[in-house]
Amino acid sequence: MLIRVALPVPLYREFDYLPSSNNTNSANTLTDSASNVAALPPIGGRVQVSFGRQTLIGIVVDHIDSNQSDVPLNKLKAIKQVIDTAPIFDLQMLSLARWLASYYHYPLGDVLSVMLPTLIRQGKPLDMLVTHWRILPNVSEDDFHSNAHKQKQQFAMLKLHGEHGASEDTLLLEGMERPFLKRLEENGLIEHFLEEQAAPRPVTLAKMPLTLNEQQQQAVDKIVATAKQAKYGGFLLNGVTGSGKTEVYLQAMQTILEAGKQVLVLVPEIGLTPQTRARFAARFAANILLLHSGLNVTQRLHGWEDCRQGRAQIIIGTRSSILHPFADLGLIVVDESHDQSYKQQDTLRYHAADVALYRGYQLGIPVVLGTATPSLEHLKLVQDGKLTELLLTQRAGNAKEATMQLVDARDTPTKYSDSPAAPTQQASLLPNLKGSQNTGLTDDTIVAIRETLEAGEQVLVFLNRRGYAPILLCEACGWQADCVRCEAHMTVHHSQLNTQQPSYLKCHHCDWQASIPLACPDCASVNLNAVGMGTTRLTESLHALFSNPQTSKKTYPIIQIDRDTTRKKDSWEDIYRRINSGNPAILVGTQMVAKGHHFPNVTLVCLPNADRGFLSPDFRSPEHTAQLIVQVAGRSGRGSKPGKVLIQTVQPENPLLRKLVRDGYQPFALELLKERKMLGLPPYTYGALIRCEAKTLQQATQVLKDAIVIMPPHELAILGPIDAPMKMKNSRYHSQLLLLSKQRPQLHQLLNFWWPQVLQLPSAKYLKLTLDVDPIGW
Ligand SMILES: [Zn+2]
Ligand SMILES: [Zn+2]
Repeated sequence: MLIRVALPVPLYREFDYLPSSNNTNSANTLTDSASNVAALPPIGGRVQVSFGRQTLIGIVVDHIDSNQSDVPLNKLKAIKQVIDTAPIFDLQMLSLARWLASYYHYPLGDVLSVMLPTLIRQGKPLDMLVTHWRILPNVSEDDFHSNAHKQKQQFAMLKLHGEHGASEDTLLLEGMERPFLKRLEENGLIEHFLEEQAAPRPVTLAKMPLTLNEQQQQAVDKIVATAKQAKYGGFLLNGVTGSGKTEVYLQAMQTILEAGKQVLVLVPEIGLTPQTRARFAARFAANILLLHSGLNVTQRLHGWEDCRQGRAQIIIGTRSSILHPFADLGLIVVDESHDQSYKQQDTLRYHAADVALYRGYQLGIPVVLGTATPSLEHLKLVQDGKLTELLLTQRAGNAKEATMQLVDARDTPTKYSDSPAAPTQQASLLPNLKGSQNTGLTDDTIVAIRETLEAGEQVLVFLNRRGYAPILLCEACGWQADCVRCEAHMTVHHSQLNTQQPSYLKCHHCDWQASIPLACPDCASVNLNAVGMGTTRLTESLHALFSNPQTSKKTYPIIQIDRDTTRKKDSWEDIYRRINSGNPAILVGTQMVAKGHHFPNVTLVCLPNADRGFLSPDFRSPEHTAQLIVQVAGRSGRGSKPGKVLIQTVQPENPLLRKLVRDGYQPFALELLKERKMLGLPPYTYGALIRCEAKTLQQATQVLKDAIVIMPPHELAILGPIDAPMKMKNSRYHSQLLLLSKQRPQLHQLLNFWWPQVLQLPSAKYLKLTLDVDPIGW
């Protein structure tokens, strides 16, 4: 028999090895004996092998007959070392890996690398056993001869744990020292033994569930019924903001947890706040595991093992948690399932919601995709009968839905030059950043803000652009400060209010920084102007209107929430404290505020330029913009106070935007779906995006041209090669090719055959070529 191994190398194949040298002899003499097979490293376990000049760790994916290898036997090397005597991956996980490899056209060995924690990949032994220490039977205090007070004390502590003793971790936490334990062992007084970590206690309810309304009850019943029949069911829990989706998750989870099964809850990257955990911990007395990008390698390994061994009962995690092995998974919830952070944007470009549905199908369990703004892909799955829609149309309790309203912004900018933000002399480090005092807000919006503040309530102004201004422009010759490494403007960072803060230019794509020139580098004019509005500038403009004691009778605090103001460790807590005080205030925030946060006193939300997405060349932009608008709108009026949402727009006649505001997200999304169908765009066609990154644009484009030449006959639509949306990023050029197919199988057939050949093209050498199946942007 031979061992087939998947190795972490970018090659679309697996590799065969002879069993390790100490059982090669028996392999030669015995042909089909059971004892021989038993000696083989297990499928799903790790082995160390030599590969070229390197030593690599791979996963055994199969045992094959020696005549099945395409490599002659005398050319095969033997396995160097067997790391696991029991599989770390069961057959189900291996078949998941194979599915990922074939669906995303990514090498199996690399897929496994993505699925495994770093320490496992490095070959760390999976030591599931825990060292325990206990006092030997028949040993009493009299046998313990020591005058040292401390040692006596420690011995007494160990004695308190009874005849079974305690784990070393526990003892160390109690202040025991390892050398001391060792010495006592040498003296024949205590002993250590290994024990498997204790299984968790059954989950119990820590708090009574809330009463459900009829729609919520129906949703819970359907999910639970599917779980009880132990079969797959894909659900789209489509509920308006505040309709109590989480309560549906919690009550469906209860049945599954009480049956002793695990529940996985996926959350978007940005939504993983301590509050998420608190919500689940308040309901269930259970082992709750949080998996997110902030964990170190040891914590990751422990988390992975806790999932695999079943010690973790509720697992709350971001995207990659869906690739974990589970002992007995009973339900998967994907919260905010439309969120784009579920799509991995490098290496294995999987979509966690799609993988969740696959795993649910594989395991025969229900999968719940919950959102207020379903993606068009998921709505189409409902239309095709592949997902069951569970609608929640009522807000829970007495909460009222926010009303959306369009504000015609074609007449802005209004100038507010009479109310300077601060003594401008102090900002003299800057050349001449005069700009207009344009707030970017219409008079109507400003009046609404003032009325809300005077009523003692809070306002949220949403602007998805941090910094002072997005462009630095020379008024004399039109020069703009661009990043030297990217096809992008440098953002002006500057503060008139806080003169301590340095002023500089920064590229938000590659983080390159430069100082603000005193004069235009092209024409030497000092007439440089910061153009456009970032959160810092908006904050300052609002400050001039609402916080300046010289111009306002009453002043209100303005709280800026973006990556620049929340960078410091405790800044979020501080911001929360100020907001939760409930006093009238204006919050200015980027998309950081759109998800997962609750601002109960916000009754007015203003979106000065959120309609821009409706003008973007990206066909997905209206969908994503609408989702963002609805998400931001959902921050308001969550208490008993109704909320109002003002969307400033320069295209008040735009039919889609009007539909969104008048009828809400669902009718808007169905309208968009019709449009996509007419235009033959996803989800009515299936896409794959090929990108090439190179030192020159010519190189990047050439590969893609060559790739088209070697394409077999097909019925796909091929768009490109064209420049990527950002043609130059970080000094590298990007070109792309888009494949659209009416049938999914046709797309995969072509990619199976063609993609490995593209990677072998002479012009592809030393370039970075990537393939993205079901891309979410191009
Ligand atoms: Zn100039
Ligand atoms: Zn840059």
